[in-house]
Amino acid sequence: MPTAPALVGRLAETFLGRRARVLRAAQIAPHFLEVEFHAQPPAGGWRPGHEVQVRATATEGRRYTVRTVEAADRITVLAVLHGDGPGARWLQNLRPGTETTLLAGRHVPLRVTGTRRLLIGDGSALGTLDAVASADPHAPTVLVEAPSDAVDQLRERWPRYRFLAALADDPGATIRSWLDESIRREELTGIDGVLLLGHAQSIQCQREALVGAGLLDRRAITTRPYWATGKVGL
Ligand SMILES: Cc1cc2nc3c(=O)[nH]c(=O)nc-3n(C[C@H](O)[C@H](O)[C@H](O)COP(=O)(O)OP(=O)(O)OC[C@H]3O[C@@H](n4cnc5c(N)ncnc54)[C@H](O)[C@@H]3O)c2cc1C
Repeated sequence: MPTAPALVGRLAETFLGRRARVLRAAQIAPHFLEVEFHAQPPAGGWRPGHEVQVRATATEGRRYTVRTVEAADRITVLAVLHGDGPGARWLQNLRPGTETTLLAGRHVPLRVTGTRRLLIGDGSALGTLDAVASADPHAPTVLVEAPSDAVDQLRERWPRYRFLAALADDPGATIRSWLDESIRREELTGIDGVLLLGHAQSIQCQREALVGAGLLDRRAITTRPYWATGKVGL
């Protein structure tokens, strides 16, 4: 529900709204903002990977994901800043002490199959990928396409993950090249579960590449688009 009448937004807030206060907002790499909230927990408590919605304006909702749960009422969210949409503006205005409302229901975990997993996404998905990878005892392969000027700092922070520099104006292109090359070299043999997050059109290409190469059945691939070229919100 990216855009909805203000009344619908207020109703959603009444039922799902959790009072929150910003404890910290820090730029951890160019374009990446990590925000720590003190936030009233929803039914069932906060979980890493929990989806939250914010009312970026009275009529526009945007979705983000809890990366870590530091305590029952302390969570962090990792966001990539791009453009000046309502979500980006809402994030950029957060300061320690800012009071806000996070909309959240009971956590529904992403269904990821297999034990030898490949987790792929772009900057918008890094928080979710980290939440999923941190809970996986089998050390999955994590591949993230990020703005080129952020790559070094992200590598330093998450040395186990593989970061690829995005090409300006061609989202998904470097991941697609990496996938084609890895498939050609038979480096993905044995992968039995894949998670694809982030840019909708890129996810489609990635899934086609994996299924088309006969590596995996569609059912072994979980997808969740976070944004799409030509669309606002999702
Ligand atoms: C379930 C879910 C969980 C999400 N979790 C996170 C999260 O934890 N962290 C996070 O950073 N994002 C997350 N997102 C993605 C985020 O909600 C979108 O990027 C959203 O569109 C941002 O809103 P906006 O108002 O800034 O831009 P919009 O007004 O929605 O879009 C403006 C323009 O920017 C483009 N655009 C949107 N997002 C991106 C992007 N990431 N990179 C480049 N261009 C973009 C659009 O295509 C559009 O042209 C999540 C999305 C979903 C559906």
